[in-house]
Amino acid sequence: MQIPKKLTENLAKPKKIVVVSHRNPDGDAIGSSLALTKILQQFGHNITCVLPNQLPDFLTWVPHLEEVMFFDNHTSEVKNLVENADIIFTLDFNHLSRVGNDFQEVLEKFDGKFVMIDHHQEPDSYAEFVMSNPAKASTCEMVYDFIDELDATNKITPAIASLLYLGIMTDTGSFRFPSTTSQTHRTIANLIDYGATNWKIHQETFDGNSYDRMQLLGRALSKMKVIESEKTAYIPLKQEDLDEFNFKKGDTEGFVNYALSLKGIIFAVIFIENSQDKLIKISFRSKGDFDVNTFARQHFEGGGHKNAAGGRSFDSLTNTVNKFLGILPDYSKELKNDA
Ligand code: 5GP
Ligand code: MN
Repeated sequence: MQIPKKLTENLAKPKKIVVVSHRNPDGDAIGSSLALTKILQQFGHNITCVLPNQLPDFLTWVPHLEEVMFFDNHTSEVKNLVENADIIFTLDFNHLSRVGNDFQEVLEKFDGKFVMIDHHQEPDSYAEFVMSNPAKASTCEMVYDFIDELDATNKITPAIASLLYLGIMTDTGSFRFPSTTSQTHRTIANLIDYGATNWKIHQETFDGNSYDRMQLLGRALSKMKVIESEKTAYIPLKQEDLDEFNFKKGDTEGFVNYALSLKGIIFAVIFIENSQDKLIKISFRSKGDFDVNTFARQHFEGGGHKNAAGGRSFDSLTNTVNKFLGILPDYSKELKNDA
């Protein structure tokens, strides 16, 4: 990573800083933004970590969570912080719309300097300082490099190490996606040396299942459909399925990976109905060269990475699935050619 010289100069004196990550924060979002906050705080900056909305239950164990301010609950305080900030760091997203409409409006009024640290493709141009690297598996790995380049690894406490470990772990699918490099493992090794309790982070994140969530997973698996000719599997989940098992935020996280784990399947999709927001939330996953970022951008108002992307539809669940099934044959050649 190359930190822009002008940014280092800007950070040489104490500043008012806000660190922001995306709506519906995942492990990489909370890990990267809170870790960066805790490092820069030690340089004497007046700094606050702001997330648009709450974390899923399986991430509420993270250290220093009590210091995070949530836009949805503290809207006027956050507006104040943004108005008075010198610098706003935006982490783990490539477009301001990823924070949600209301928070986006607030951020668009900010007339100071934006800094982007992110690993999504096609970064937008709102930031004065852009550190974007789609080859990196996680923003947390980039924040580690940022800290290293600031010569500040001595400031990595066990809590900060755990936060960075979390984001690398979740965004690499526990170190198994192709984006995982030897450098990722070196960073992980260093983080363990700095006090990240690796076994405990896995346990806290993945072994906190509720009985309801496992039952909902059972329902999702039983609704899974396979289109063998297109090497595709998909899962439609209705609002009533979610209600039956007392759905809580985060409960469907990772379900789509079960569809992708089927032998011979390289494209997996989950459609989740959300009656309250009147939309269908869609997650796309792929193996190999099939590019779900492009697929999500072109057809479902979304985006992300080549092998993992999200999108949405404002039509009914049935119509959305039918639209998807209608489009799929256009990709037959690509899907069949892939390993
Ligand atoms: P998920 O399916 O878990 O919601 O998202 C998968 C990946 O795609 C994540 O890295 C997420 O940040 C990204 N992503 C999800 N929705 C969108 C979207 O609407 N736009 C963009 N650019 N990325 C998205
Ligand atoms: Mn990420």
